[in-house]
Amino acid sequence: MTRRYDLQVHTDASPCSSTPPERVASAAADAGLDGIAVTDHDTLANVDAVRDAAPGDLEVIPGVEVTTTEGHLLALDVREAPPRTDPLTVVDRVHEQGGVAVLSHPFDTLRQYYETDLEALADAVDGVEAVNSRCVRRRFNEHAATFAAAHDLPTTGGSDAHFPMEVGRAYTAVEGDGSLADAVRDGRVRPSGRGRYLSGHVATKLHQFRTASDRAVSRVMSGRSP
Ligand SMILES: [Zn+2]
Ligand SMILES: [Zn+2]
Repeated sequence: MTRRYDLQVHTDASPCSSTPPERVASAAADAGLDGIAVTDHDTLANVDAVRDAAPGDLEVIPGVEVTTTEGHLLALDVREAPPRTDPLTVVDRVHEQGGVAVLSHPFDTLRQYYETDLEALADAVDGVEAVNSRCVRRRFNEHAATFAAAHDLPTTGGSDAHFPMEVGRAYTAVEGDGSLADAVRDGRVRPSGRGRYLSGHVATKLHQFRTASDRAVSRVMSGRSP
């Protein structure tokens, strides 16, 4: 039996998303997923709210997208947000809590990415996200897949959704039973779905623009000059 998990989903606990937990849960159910990892930036704040809103057959993995001093790192199946520090320390903190550490869009040079200590990092992590729907250039995901293959690391997929319609655009196919964390550790995972998606970024820009214009409007309404 193959299960499908979107292993990178944001909610409005992330500054760049305005999707409330209930919408994330319903979007995941609508996409027919078996599970999602809620991976807000450096916080677990909305995991319980997503789980409370989720139907019983949707598994919700507590996760964090950690801002390291290099790239982003997915901490999956954790109870505490790891500190924002160097990647190798973050991986240790994830493992200390029994979680799995996956490099998030590791070579997307238009966002935060990894460039030093790559060999040590490859030895330390449990997996590499090789399909991220928000990578604008195909080669960013290809680079991640090549790196994973060269180091014999499992690969995952995630939509990196910041809007409900993005949930499930990319996902991780999981073979066999048992926990998602064990499946990553055992390499019973492979990424699938769409790896390149421009309109998500356009929607983010629009969201930022709207937020900025809302602020401008409320300044005018309150009689304050900008
Ligand atoms: Zn990221
Ligand atoms: Zn993300």
